[in-house]
Amino acid sequence: MLSYRTRWAHTDRHRVRSSSEGPPHALVIHTSEQAFPTATNGETLADVIAGPKIAIPNTNPVRYNQASYHWCVDLDTVNHMVAVTDIDGRDDIAYHAPPNWHGESICLTGRAGRDWTGVTDGTNDIPQLILAAQLVAQRLQARGWPVVKLSPADLVAGKQGVCGHVDISNAWHATDHTDPGVGFPWDWFLTSVAKLMHPPTQEEDSMKKLRAFVRDKPALGEAFVQIEMKGYDSTSQRDVVGDFHDVVDFPCTEAEYNALKRAASS
Ligand SMILES: [Zn+2]
Repeated sequence: MLSYRTRWAHTDRHRVRSSSEGPPHALVIHTSEQAFPTATNGETLADVIAGPKIAIPNTNPVRYNQASYHWCVDLDTVNHMVAVTDIDGRDDIAYHAPPNWHGESICLTGRAGRDWTGVTDGTNDIPQLILAAQLVAQRLQARGWPVVKLSPADLVAGKQGVCGHVDISNAWHATDHTDPGVGFPWDWFLTSVAKLMHPPTQEEDSMKKLRAFVRDKPALGEAFVQIEMKGYDSTSQRDVVGDFHDVVDFPCTEAEYNALKRAASS
């Protein structure tokens, strides 16, 4: 379980979901448009969101900044700020990407336009991206939603998955925000999320160990390929060792066999 801090958004900045609004169906990734991520600017962002709405200068009639997010992530902290049903018993609406009710929102500190690889701006974004991937994996699991990148059309159709604020903008045209930006590493990010959600099964893990074991042993490696070619569908990992034994007439040493057996049954 990813650890997080609960810090409630100010009542100016969220509201109860009305009965005419459906349940959320998308995790929406934002950037805060503060300076580059640091170990503390998640707290700065949380301070703002925990405070009342702020009048936007030179607006008439006066408009307010009353943005909020369900989750805020910096380099080392996850802040939980607006209620989600599996944790808090209800899905409140954060003011993050109108029409707000479609999404559960996750805000990464930093700017959308940055170089997420950190090559040109000297900022190491990886700890933040890993933290965000862990959070997204956990939220998708909690919601029962798939690791799917949603297009604007998918969003309008009510499909479940992950998107950026930009996709909400393009789906409903209620804002022109384009975060998390064209440089956001979606492929890498969602692959990481999928790995976190679906760790290898025991069988896959065992086969991986076997493959690693035979890598530098040509005779064993060849036999292993034969086993794979005739189709591996044994009901127990012990059979892998049995099959191996039959096919290669035991060319491995006692120590190798024992190691193989250990790998297969571990
Ligand atoms: Zn946004």
